[in-house]
Amino acid sequence: MAGYLSESDFVMVEEGFSTRDLLEELTLGASQAATGEVAAFFVADLGAIVRKQFCFLKCLPRVRPFYAVKCNSSLGVLKVLAELGLGFSCANKAEMELVQRIGIPASKIIYANPCKQIAHIKYAAKHGIRLLSFDNEMELAKVAKSHPGARMVLCIATDDSHSLSCLSMQFGASLKSCRHLLAKAKRSHMEVVGVSFHIGSGCPDPQAYAQSIADARLVFEMGTELGHRMHILDLGGGFPGIEGAKVRFEEIASVINSALDLYFPEGCGVDILAELGRYYVTSAFTLAVNVIAKKEVFSDQPSREEENSFASKTIVYHLEEGVYGIFNSVLFDNTCPTPILQKKPSTEQPSYSSSLWGPALDGYDCVAEGLWLPQLHVGDWLVFENMGAYTVGMGSLFGGAQACRVTYAMSRVAWEALRRQLLPPEPEEDAEDVCKPLSCGWEITDTLCVGPVFTPASIM
Ligand SMILES: *Cc1c(COP(=O)(O)O)cnc(C)c1O
Repeated sequence: MAGYLSESDFVMVEEGFSTRDLLEELTLGASQAATGEVAAFFVADLGAIVRKQFCFLKCLPRVRPFYAVKCNSSLGVLKVLAELGLGFSCANKAEMELVQRIGIPASKIIYANPCKQIAHIKYAAKHGIRLLSFDNEMELAKVAKSHPGARMVLCIATDDSHSLSCLSMQFGASLKSCRHLLAKAKRSHMEVVGVSFHIGSGCPDPQAYAQSIADARLVFEMGTELGHRMHILDLGGGFPGIEGAKVRFEEIASVINSALDLYFPEGCGVDILAELGRYYVTSAFTLAVNVIAKKEVFSDQPSREEENSFASKTIVYHLEEGVYGIFNSVLFDNTCPTPILQKKPSTEQPSYSSSLWGPALDGYDCVAEGLWLPQLHVGDWLVFENMGAYTVGMGSLFGGAQACRVTYAMSRVAWEALRRQLLPPEPEEDAEDVCKPLSCGWEITDTLCVGPVFTPASIM
C-alpha cells in the first residue's frame, strides 16, 4: 500500500452488514441526539470508488486517469483515489494545497483551469506543478510571466451543444485560433506539450469524444510543425457516474478506444490522460436529510385525476438542505433527486402528491416536485442515492463553512481488493489481472447496496 488510506479512515463493513444498515444506525443515533438538532449527513462507500477504478482500467487500458478535485474534495475520496494511484486535476490553489497536503507529488498534479489567478500560477511554480492548461493568449502571457517553466496543454473547444452543461461558450480555443496560439507560445518560449478538451457533462452522444480526438490530432500536427514536442492528450471528463446513465460508460469507452486507435495508435508516443470527476464519486455517496417542516396546500383548480381523492392536495415538505446547498445539482445538472424512504410503507398506506423544498424562503429552492409519497412526519429521514458529485464542498476540509458530515465505509472485500491491486502495476499485459479482484469486490459491493428500499419513482 502506498499509505494514503488506512483502516482508521473508514468503517470496515463486514459481511452480512451493509452500508445501508450503517446509514440506518446513524439516522437512529442522530434522531436520538440529546440536543434534538438534526443535520444532514452522507455515508460514502469507498468500495464503490475502488470498483469504478477497476472498471476504468478494464475499459480504457490506455488512459491514465486524473481525478477532478472540484467534483468532491472530501478527504476519504482523495485518499482512496491516491491509494489507487490516480493523478489529480486541480482548478485552483486551494485544491493544489489540499492534494499536496495528503502527500501527492507535484508530478501527479495538473492545474487544469483555463482562467487562473496569477497568485495561483505562482503557487504552482513554487511547488513544482508544471502541467497547466490554457485556451487564450492572455492566459499564456500570464503563465509565461509567472511560471516560465510550465508545460502547457492547449484546451480546445468541443461541440457540446448536446451536453446538459455546455462549456465551449466559456472554455476552449477554437480550431481556427490554435495555430496562432501555438505560434505565440513558441515566440514567448513557452513549451506546449499537448491538447485537452472537456466534453461537458451529460453529453448524450459519445461521438463527441471521437470528434474531439480527431480535432486534437490536427492540433498535434500544427504544434509539431511549429516545433512543439506534443506528447499529451487529455480527454477531460464528463463520463457518467450512475449506473443506468443514458449513455453507458462502456459505450463511451469503446468509442474512445476506436478513435484512439485511429488517431493516436499504440506506440505513437502520446501519453493519454483523462480528468474524471463524477464518474468516480456519484454513486458512492448516499445522503440522509431530515424533514424539518411540513404543510398541506390545497389547489382550487379542478384536478384531471378526479378519481384520486387526494389529487387536489399537495403536501409540501421542507428539508434542511436545498438547492443552495447539497442539492445544487438540481440547478446545474437538471437532475431530479428521488428519495428513498427509511421505513417501507405498507401497501394500504395512501400516497399523496408531495414536493420537497429546501430551507430557503424563496420560490427557487425546490428539490423535487410531483412525487407520490406516503404521509411523512417532521423528523423523518429521507435518503438520496447517487449524491457524490458536486455536493460535498471544500468547507469540510478547511474547518470553514458549515459542512455535512461524511461517514466513510468500505467492505472488507473491497479493502482487500484495493490492497492487492497496488502490487507493482505492469500496465498492458496485466490489465486483465488487475481486474481480477474486481469481480469479487463487485459482487459483494453490489449486494451491499441492495436493501429493502422503497422508491417513490416506482409508484409515480
Ligand atoms: C470539472 C472538470 C472535469 C470533470 O468533469 P466531470 O463531468 O465531473 O467528469 C474534467 N475536466 C475539467 C477541465 C473540469 O473542469
